[in-house]
Amino acid sequence: MSDRPSLDDQQNYFAQHPPRILSGLEKFLVDSAIGQGGHGEALGTSFELGCVCGSARLKIEAAKTEWKGESLFVVPVRLECASCRKVVEFFDPELHGYDGELGHNKHLNNEARPQLSSVETVDTSQLVASFFYMDDLFCDDFPVDGASVAKEDLFSWFALFERRCDGKAVLLIEEECA
Ligand SMILES: [Zn+2]
Repeated sequence: MSDRPSLDDQQNYFAQHPPRILSGLEKFLVDSAIGQGGHGEALGTSFELGCVCGSARLKIEAAKTEWKGESLFVVPVRLECASCRKVVEFFDPELHGYDGELGHNKHLNNEARPQLSSVETVDTSQLVASFFYMDDLFCDDFPVDGASVAKEDLFSWFALFERRCDGKAVLLIEEECA
């Protein structure tokens, strides 16, 4: 017999438990998730991000790549407050997301990682981070690998958007995490 909570209950859990990569930031839950997970994840949350000083203007520092004719940032990504200059090491695929948390990405070598010389900095008006989850994280036999990782940190898809003044959300980073 499975005691897995309903999808609504799981969604409520993730809405109330932001991932740990947001711990050094102000975050505000968005009513419905922006974007979607590339694996067809049934669950997702989005949070507007800001600095703990109150500013919503965060600079992204990350390398850029061309993908399907679009220029996207790639992880790892660092955020810097445009107001007080506080720096947050935001997302590192070796440490964060499903594969990072469970140690599956320790093989990532320096060659595969973006070089600092290609890092760009962009000043954004409002960042929104989205996290997508599979619906099996509440199964009795989970997590696997003997890991004791909080479920909210086991997102299998991550995306970062900039919300422009007209309300449009522009994709900046998309990362498959499992
Ligand atoms: Zn600040």
